Formats: sequence, structure tokens, C-alpha cells
Amino acid sequence: MNVKDRKLREVDSETTTGILKRVITENGRDHIRGYAVAIACLMVVAATTGFIAWISETVVNEAFANRRGDTVLLICFSIFAAFVLRGLATYGQAVTLSKIGNSIVARYKRRLYMHLMALSVGYFQEKRSAQLTAKINQNVAGIRDVLNMTVTSIARDLLTLVALVGVMVSKDWLLSLIILLVAPPMLLGLRYISKRLRLATREAVEANSSVLGAVQETIQGISIVKAFTMEDELRRKVERIIDRAESRANRIARLSERTAPLTETFAGLAISSVLAYASLRTIYSNVAPGALFAFVTALLMAYDPARRLARLQLSLERAAVNARMLYEILDTVPHQRDLPGAAELTFSEATVEFRGVRFSYGNSEEILKGVSFRAEGGKTTALVGSSGAGKSTIISLIPRFYDPQSGAILIDGQDIATVTKQSLRSGLAYVSQQAYLFEGSIRDNIRYGRPEATDAEVEEAARLAYAHDFILAQPQGYDTPVGEQGMTLSGGQRQRLSIARALLRNAPLLLLDEATSALDTESEAAVQKALDQAMSGRTVIVIAHRLSTVVNADKIVVMKEGMVVEEGTHEELAHRPGGLYARLHNLQGSALELTVGADVT
Ligand code: ADP
Repeated sequence: MNVKDRKLREVDSETTTGILKRVITENGRDHIRGYAVAIACLMVVAATTGFIAWISETVVNEAFANRRGDTVLLICFSIFAAFVLRGLATYGQAVTLSKIGNSIVARYKRRLYMHLMALSVGYFQEKRSAQLTAKINQNVAGIRDVLNMTVTSIARDLLTLVALVGVMVSKDWLLSLIILLVAPPMLLGLRYISKRLRLATREAVEANSSVLGAVQETIQGISIVKAFTMEDELRRKVERIIDRAESRANRIARLSERTAPLTETFAGLAISSVLAYASLRTIYSNVAPGALFAFVTALLMAYDPARRLARLQLSLERAAVNARMLYEILDTVPHQRDLPGAAELTFSEATVEFRGVRFSYGNSEEILKGVSFRAEGGKTTALVGSSGAGKSTIISLIPRFYDPQSGAILIDGQDIATVTKQSLRSGLAYVSQQAYLFEGSIRDNIRYGRPEATDAEVEEAARLAYAHDFILAQPQGYDTPVGEQGMTLSGGQRQRLSIARALLRNAPLLLLDEATSALDTESEAAVQKALDQAMSGRTVIVIAHRLSTVVNADKIVVMKEGMVVEEGTHEELAHRPGGLYARLHNLQGSALELTVGADVT
């Protein structure tokens, strides 16, 4: 089996009909009334179209054979009325279907957002966020198209076609039969095209997502791009991706437009043979021209809906690919669900204990090789060790961003694997190295720490975090917008905001990843004071980069290559002969990464 066939088969794994069924069962029910209105309108469209073709026989016969001017005028007026009615019905169905489509798009966006938030941290580390966003946007539109296309095409075109074929059969059944003969070969041709199109569509969505992803990444990292003069390199890379997207788009165009010569050829064959046969018959026998006129009118009018129906399968294939790709995201099971009947975690002293924890990311090498230590309640425990020793990994296991492969983590004697994640996370606050601010005002950003906090509490937290004064100096104070479009804050200010957020949370357990990036001395001192506030009176586990943090910690846990090699206070460890900490400390802490900050002497 060659690669192309194998790919086709993979893409085929869930059939188009299966996907359509799923899309319809998940969304159809809520919009039954809307669809009923749309279908009623479409039936009016079909009926008026059929009527126009059907009545043309009477016009011709009354005008040419019976010469009845009054009847002709009456009929012509009814044709005009039929057109007006058709216009109104077309408007009605289009508006109704668009409304349903928009509501479905909104619903999928909501569903996806909720779903993405439920997925584990690991999922996002495997995916490129910008590409993921682009893919979602492209595919959501695809689902809307599946539904609207199915309804429009099936209801309008099929009904219209049935009405017109009815007219044709009633006027001349033999001729109708001749025309139906062209259908089977045409359908076979379309089937072949649609199969190829399915693969091309998936490749096109991937390629487009890569382009959008690359653009977004460049925008996000624009200062790095410029500082490292990466422009040429990136341009070449992005050009390659854009070329690929272009060639995929061309392939889709070639494939889907191949339907035109196919349908036109068969339609031409049908129409010309009908005309030839019918004209010859009219010339050589004495049949009234009215019936033939109506037949040909119906035939010509049937051409458009028939062509659209023929293409429907292709459009549905494309839309189904979008839907399928979206479901791939929606069907990703959130890795860590709470155990059935999981208990609520109750915090008392917030003592954290690691017991023989072994952990690896995915299938890679073991990162934590049996880590055991105890972080006493209300005390500060500092994790130190060279870069890559596994300190951040330890921190990320506590909120259960990941679960260890073996061993256990206990908080106040309760295994965190057996409690609800909600109760676990509500008892801890996390201050990362990079202070992340969300779109919104300064007040909103602090309030994420505890959404029900009052304005006064928000301000109190800001005061404790030494942020109140600089916040008041902003143009709109606490209501100043931050985030992407907002004004820019300094690194130290951002950190103090994220500390205020953690303070507001007032959680018994604080996880802290001290920033390594150097701040100016003044900022540094303010951040340090804010941190001291945040650390007092609660259990703190800190990845320490500052010497003062380590020296003042109640306990130091020294890590090396995924193992705890020493534990104790600074006093105990600094003078232990041959100890790793003592050695690192004597080296002025360079390998300990303790050199940051003005307090290193
Ligand atoms: P530290 O915080 O002590 O510098 P980390 O816990 O960040 O150490 O990293 C320990 C090891 O785990 C490193 O070898 C790193 O490459 C690896 N690692 C960290 N995060 C991931 C991840 N998301 N996926 C795979 N490996 C990771």
C-alpha cells in the first residue's frame, strides 16, 4: 500500500456520514424550530420554482394555440407573484440558517474553551499554542458549513429538483428517462474526486494553521527576533510553509473545480439530446409546442440545483474534515480526572511530604528518582540545586499539573492523588518566575487570586505587596488596563502584581519560583519585601535563587540529578565537610544560581 493510499485510509477512519450524524445529533435538536422554519421556506422556494416551469406550458399554449390574451396576462401575473414569493422565502431561509449557524459556532467555541481549560498542562506542552488556536478557528467554521450546507442543499435543491423532475415526468416521461441515464457515470466521477479532496483538505488546514501559528509566534517574540536578527532565517522558514499552504490550496481548487467539466459535459449531453429529439419530434409529428417548452424550461431550471447537489458531496467532505479535526480536540480526554468519590482536601498546617516520588515526562528519562522530603507547616523550605536538577518539576507536581509514576505526595497526611483537584488547588497560591498578566485591568488581575474579594481586600493585598503606590501612579489607577493592549509595566511591577494576587488568595501553601532575571536595585528591594510579606505565616516551598532566601529558609533541600542529596538548615549544611551545599556555597553560589540580587556578598 503506498503512502497516499495509507493516508487516505487513515483520514477515512471515521466516515463522513458518521461525522455528519454526530454534528447533527449534537446540534440539531436545539434548533429544530429554526430548521423547521427554514425548511418550510425552502419548500416554498421549491414549489414556486416548480410552478414557474409547469405554468409555462399554459402560457405557450394559450398564447400560440388558443390566442387568449386575458388568460396569458393572468398567468404572467401569477408568475410574477411566484417570483416575489420565492424571493421572500429565500430571504427567510437564509436569515434563519445564518442565525442557527452563528449560534452553533458560538456553542462550539464555548465548548472548546471549556474543554481546553480542562486539559492537563502536559497537553499544551506538546502542542504549539498558536497553531492550535488557528486550527480551532478554521475548523469551527467548517462545522457550521456542514449543517447549513446539508440543510440548504438537501432541502432547497433536492426539493426543487424533485418538483422540477415531477414537472418533466408529467410533461414527457420518456424524455425524462433519457436524462436520468447520465446520472450514474457522473456520480462515479464525483466520488473519485471527493476521496482525493478529503486528504487535500486536511493537509490544507494543517498548512494554514502552521502559517498562522508562525505569524503569531513571530509577533509574540518580536523583540527576540530582532535582537538575534532572525529575520532572514524566519522569512525563509515561513516562506516554505506559505508555499506549502499555497500548493495545497491550488490542489483543492484543481480537484474541486474538476467537477465543472464533469457536470457540464454530462449536462450538455443531456440537454442537447433532449432538444434534438424533442425538436425533431415536434417537426415531424403534430405535438403542441407547450409541453415541450415547459419540459425544456424545467430541464434548464433543474440544471443549477442538480449541479449544486452534485457538488454537495465535495463541500460536505471538506466540511467533514474540519469537523473531524475539531472533534479530535474535543475527544482528547483530560488526563487526570478526579477519582470517583474523591474527598475534599482539608488543610491544617499545610505540611507537604514527598514519599519516594518517581516521575518522568511522557516516555522520556526519569526526572525524579525517588524524591522524599518534608516541608513543615508554616515554615519555608528552599529547593536548591543546579539547573535541570528537577526543582521546577517538584513544584509542578504539587498542584497536580502532572502525576508521579510512583510514590506519593501528601498534604497534612492526605494523598493529593485521592482528593479533588479543586480542593487541592484552592489551598495553594503560585508565584511563577514570569509574572503573567491577563487582559483586563490591574484590579481584575489581582482579583483572579480570589474572585469574591472586595475592592478593599484587593487594595490591601496590593499594599502588602508594595504595589499600591505604583498602581495609584498609573493613569487610571486600579482600573488601568494591562495585558497585551494595555500599557507596559516593568518586570518588578509585574512581579509585585502577581505577588498581590497570591497574597489575596490567602492560601495556606505558597509555591514560589524566584525570578532569576535581575531587577534594578530599587525594584529588587520592593519585590523582596513583597515576597517576605507573602511568605510570612504560611508553608512556603521556594525554588531559591537568592542567597538571602536560602540562608533564611527553615530548611534547605539540595537536589542533584533528580534526587535529594542533602537536607538541613544553612548552618548545618554550610559547614558539612564534603557536602554539596557547602561546596556550592563556597563557590560563591554560582552553580547554585544564587548570584542574582544585590544581597550576595
Ligand atoms: P530545575 O527546575 O531544577 O532546573 P526542571 O525540573 O525544570 O529542573 O527540569 C528537570 C529535567 O526535566 C530537565 O532535564 C528538563 O529537561 C526536563 N523537563 C522539564 N520540563 C519538561 C517537560 N515539560 N517535558 C519534558 N522534559 C522536561
